[in-house]
Amino acid sequence: MSKQAINPFSNALKKLKTSIKYLEIDEKYYDILSKPEAVLEHDIKIEMDSGETKTFPGYRVQFNSARGPYKGGIRFHPEANLDEVKTLAFLMSIKCAVANIPMGGGKGGIQVAPKKLSQTEIEKLSRAWVREFFDKIGPEKDIPAPDVYTNPQIMTWMVDEYSKLAGKKSPAAFTGKPINQGGSAGREFSTSQGGFYVLIELLKKLKKNPAETTVAVQGFGNVGFHAARILHEHGFKVIIASDSKGSIYDMRGEGMDPNNIMKTKKEKGGIYDCYCEGSVCDCENYKKVSNNELLEMDVDVLIPAALENQITVENADRIKAKIVIELANGPITPEADEILFKKGIYVVPDILANAGGVIVSYFEWLQNLKNEEWSEEDVLKKLSDIMIKEFDNVWTIAQDKKIDLRTAAYILAIGRIVEAIKVKK
Ligand code: NAD
Repeated sequence: MSKQAINPFSNALKKLKTSIKYLEIDEKYYDILSKPEAVLEHDIKIEMDSGETKTFPGYRVQFNSARGPYKGGIRFHPEANLDEVKTLAFLMSIKCAVANIPMGGGKGGIQVAPKKLSQTEIEKLSRAWVREFFDKIGPEKDIPAPDVYTNPQIMTWMVDEYSKLAGKKSPAAFTGKPINQGGSAGREFSTSQGGFYVLIELLKKLKKNPAETTVAVQGFGNVGFHAARILHEHGFKVIIASDSKGSIYDMRGEGMDPNNIMKTKKEKGGIYDCYCEGSVCDCENYKKVSNNELLEMDVDVLIPAALENQITVENADRIKAKIVIELANGPITPEADEILFKKGIYVVPDILANAGGVIVSYFEWLQNLKNEEWSEEDVLKKLSDIMIKEFDNVWTIAQDKKIDLRTAAYILAIGRIVEAIKVKK
């Protein structure tokens, strides 16, 4: 997935400050919560297929553990850097607290262009990351998961390396594993499924009917595809969808079948190391339009499921959707967020809308610790209970204080983290 600069850490800290004011709690909590508990950096050295040795910067930031062990993905990306990892680790602390799961926030990464490496080199890199950070991670301390350009296969290598070093099988050390390696049923589409549950709750509050609801989905990777698929299966009309190569628009307004689009995308594009190189634009029945047209389309629901910073001061005024469900992390800049709120657009923020992924990761960890295997039905029931309850909590705070849903979610999360800190003292 290509990528732009993520919202800087300072934007997240502004929300922290606002929440502390609303909660009327001691300012000392700002100092505590604005600093990570540990910032870990190691060079990751591997022998390349050519025989030459190469070094890549590796990171893990452990932000806050007041509510439980650190939890958060590892990304392999050429622009991964400490600032970005720190911001994402902070956001994971907030997301876990909004979801009310007993986990803290962490994030890791390696600065590397993974598509330029062979499978063997990726495996070596994954195992070397574990060796460098072994002492600081583990089922009771810090549980990593996949993120950008890391996947279930990489988690399998990482668990294997961890287990060798620990001298025992330790599936609970990483989540996002394949099901036959201790992964959870439902994890593959849990982020999208969680977003679907909150959308249904919001539509109930707004007294709207799914069958009359039109949707635009930006991004057709794991999250975007499954979101489009689930919504289509529940009678929503997905009328426009995109990926990095462009957007397709169903001018008849009847709604597309995402399974057919994915089938064509795979048939035409083939697969490279789990990443499909085909495009939604390979589907010939639809009109090709631009990414901007997708974002500004007159639909009921807009789902950004691709990149950061897609809705900015440049285009916020032209957004016509009535609801935005942020399945991507950080797709709206803080300035644009204010514009959308003033326009009366409901934005369900990433820290709530895409929390389904980390919630099912938490279920995976629990299953591994208890040596259990839950059915997909069980997993989705538990996920839906959490999403509905926490959406309602966020909605109530937003209505009471007449604020946007993002600020309300922050208030809920910060309140919970501060309570956990107080109890431990
Ligand atoms: P992915 O790599 O599987 O898919 C990303 C998609 O975005 C691809 O289809 C790509 O072609 C498309 N894309 C890239 N640039 C685009 C552009 N300019 N316009 C339109 N589409 C573009 O990634 P994913 O796992 O689906 O993650 C998507 C987003 O969701 C990311 O922000 C990620 O951080 C967030 N997220 C993912 C999960 C998860 O469980 N996978 C959990 C929480 C948040």
